[in-house]
Formats: sequence, structure tokens, C-alpha cells
Amino acid sequence: MKIIIIGAGIGGLTTAIALKQRGFEVEIFEAAPAFKKAGSGINLALNAMQVYKKLGLYDQILEAGSYTNAMIITDEKLQPLSVIDMKPFEGKFGVKSVAIHRATLHQILLDQLADVPLHLNKKVKDVKQSEAGIEVAFGDGTMQQASVLIAADGIHSAVRKSIFDNTTIRAAKQICWRGITKIELPPNYQTELHEPWGKGKRFGFVAIAENEYYWYALANYKEDYRKEFEQVDLAKFYSDFNPLVSQIIKSTPPQNILTNELLDLKPIQRWYQKNICLLGDSAHATTPNLGQGACQAIESALVLADCLAKHKEAEKAFGEFQSIRMKKAIEVVQTSWRVGKIAHLENGLLIKIRNFVLKNTPAKIANKQSERIFEIDKVVVPQ
Ligand SMILES: Cc1cc2nc3c(=O)[nH]c(=O)nc-3n(C[C@H](O)[C@H](O)[C@H](O)COP(=O)(O)OP(=O)(O)OC[C@H]3O[C@@H](n4cnc5c(N)ncnc54)[C@H](O)[C@@H]3O)c2cc1C
Repeated sequence: MKIIIIGAGIGGLTTAIALKQRGFEVEIFEAAPAFKKAGSGINLALNAMQVYKKLGLYDQILEAGSYTNAMIITDEKLQPLSVIDMKPFEGKFGVKSVAIHRATLHQILLDQLADVPLHLNKKVKDVKQSEAGIEVAFGDGTMQQASVLIAADGIHSAVRKSIFDNTTIRAAKQICWRGITKIELPPNYQTELHEPWGKGKRFGFVAIAENEYYWYALANYKEDYRKEFEQVDLAKFYSDFNPLVSQIIKSTPPQNILTNELLDLKPIQRWYQKNICLLGDSAHATTPNLGQGACQAIESALVLADCLAKHKEAEKAFGEFQSIRMKKAIEVVQTSWRVGKIAHLENGLLIKIRNFVLKNTPAKIANKQSERIFEIDKVVVPQ
């Protein structure tokens, strides 16, 4: 079976690797004319790392990134409110959590696909499906026939728009800045992710290499984030946080800071239509408050490849894929949305209550949710 994949992001490339390893012929079409060395990092939680272990990429990714052994939510002065110690989970799941430069991860994935045709500058405009098969129309006027198509073309998926009406992108009304900087910080920061929550804004930072940190900063906006933050001096904006935060921001070349707004896809009830299936952000884009968007895409990639290997008919495989993956992916989307709202409270009293609850919630309860996320969805293969 030959499979066309639209989109060469983390989801599309991981799917291509899993399919290739299962003996499928794969061809990838990507809109971008070249891959950018975007200045941001990514956290690969234990669920993603279990998938990469199964795909034989675990050691390479661990080596190229930086090991994270704790995730700590703090108040704005970096006083801990909630600590997730990763070590017991590492024992249970047999992998470690890693933070890595996105471009490094992308290159590791691309290296696995050197023998797979990957066409750049191929932006899908429209997809039509008929009894005769699938016809993909690109922006450059060319066409591609396919019998099976996986759409890993991100939150604004053109394929999704071609096959489903009325899907909704939601704006969380939060702006996000991201950067990478080389800076020497006290040793505990080398292995711990810290996320200080303030009043209507928060900050996060984690090492991606020795003395190299990926950071992200988020703040509420009202109507138009571009206008409201056009003149922002970020270091000053975070000057009510522990001074380390402004220090990290100041050490980052301003031209390397990325700015986005946070969006997600309101959960949809169906991810496939005959022989076309959505994967990753095109199916279940989430706000990044649990650091799970790519991890969920990676989990979906392996399950989808296993379903295709199990069933001869693509439509059957897509049906099983959806029934295995949809529940958890939607849970992540909805939980992340709620966490984003709680993290960005603006009312002083509610913030005090939030911080009290976070500080006094038994680790057992917080760990239960993490465990559910770290446990990967699997396909049952008949013996
Ligand atoms: C601020 C922020 C921080 C995040 N942090 C984390 C984190 O720490 N951990 C985590 O797991 N996730 C994180 N995420 C989420 C993560 O980035 C995404 O979930 C993940 O990249 C989705 O991968 P994807 O391959 O499905 O989609 P994408 O990465 O969006 O890739 C889609 C690909 O398709 C291409 N494409 C788009 N349209 C077309 C078209 N019409 N034709 C052809 N090609 C097309 C694009 O160019 C792109 O290469 C974060 C997201 C944000 C916004």
C-alpha cells in the first residue's frame, strides 16, 4: 500500500518513519520551501519517548537533547507550588523525559527518511475524494493522485477543511513568546523545568543542552495581541517575577524571539473520511499548557501505523485508530484549555486560592493525571 503524507512536521515525519518500518511505501508533500531552524525548543514527555524507543530513536534523541527529571510550577518568585518528580515514572515506563531544540529533533527524524521522497514547496489547496481515488491539488497548479492519504498539515489543515465543514479554531486569548539562550544558571535548572505563574501571565524555562535554555512566556490579551503588546519590553514586563526571569529574557537576542497566539481545535467527532485520515494538530491541536501537542501527534503516529499494518483496508485501520486515540487526545485538549485559564487568573484572591490548592494537593492526585498522560495508547495485535 502506498501512502501519501501531507505535512513534514513532527507528526508527519514520525508517521512516515513508523510506516516505513512496517514496510509501507511513503511519499511526503510539504508546503514550506525549506525547513527553518526555528528558535524554540520542545518537551518530549514520557509518552513520546516510549514511542521513539519503539521506533529505535530513543538513545539518539536523549543524547541530542537534555534530560528533565522534574516539572515544577512555582509562584512568580520561583517558590514551588507543585512538583512532579519524573523518577518514579521513569522506572514505570522505562524512558526519560527530554527537552530538545526543535530543529535538532526535526533533523533526527529527517535523517531516518533519506530514502523517502519528500517534496517541498507543495502547498495543498484542495483535496477531492471519489470512487476513483483521491486527487490532491497544490498551490503551484500541480496535482497528485493517491489511494490513501494522511493529513499531518497542522492546526489550519487544508485537508481537514476540504473534507469536513464547520471545524472551529479557538483562540485562548493568550500571547506566547519563545526563545533560546545560552546562559549559566544554578545547577538544579539544568535538569528541572520551572514554570512560574503570576497574575495573568507566566513564564517557563528548561535546559535543552548544557547551559542552553529554551524559555516561553505567556500573557493574557483582550482583543488584538499584536497591538496590545507591540511596544512591550519583555524583561520589564516580567520584572515582578524572580530576577532570573528578566535575566533569561535579556540574554536572548530579540530577533530570535518568536511570537504567537495560543490556539486549539475545538474537538471534532471524526478524524477520517474513507481513505483520508487526519493526524496530529490537524485532528487534535491543543494549547501547549500540558506540553502535549507534539507528544500526542507522536502517539497517534505509532498507533496509526500499527492500525494500517493490522488491517488490509485503510478505512478499517482509520476507524480503529480513531477509536483508540480520540478519548485521550480530546482529554488532553480539554484539560490543557482549563489549565491555561487557571494559570492566567488575574484576580488576586483567586490567585491566592489557586496557589494554596496547588501547594496542598497531595502528590498522589497530581501524579495520577500525569500517569494517564504518560501511558501510551496501544493497538492490540491478534496473536
Ligand atoms: C508555544 C507552543 C509551545 C509548544 N510546546 C510543546 C511542547 O513542549 N511539547 C509538545 O509536545 N508540544 C508542544 N507544542 C505543540 C506542538 O508544537 C504541535 O502539537 C506539533 O508541532 C504538531 O505537529 P504536527 O506535525 O501535527 O503539525 P505541525 O508541526 O503544524 O506541522 C504541520 C506541517 O504541515 C505543513 N503544512 C501546513 N499546511 C500545509 C498545506 N496546505 N500543504 C502542505 N503542507 C502543509 C507545515 O508547513 C508543517 O510542516 C507547542 C505549541 C506551541 C504553539
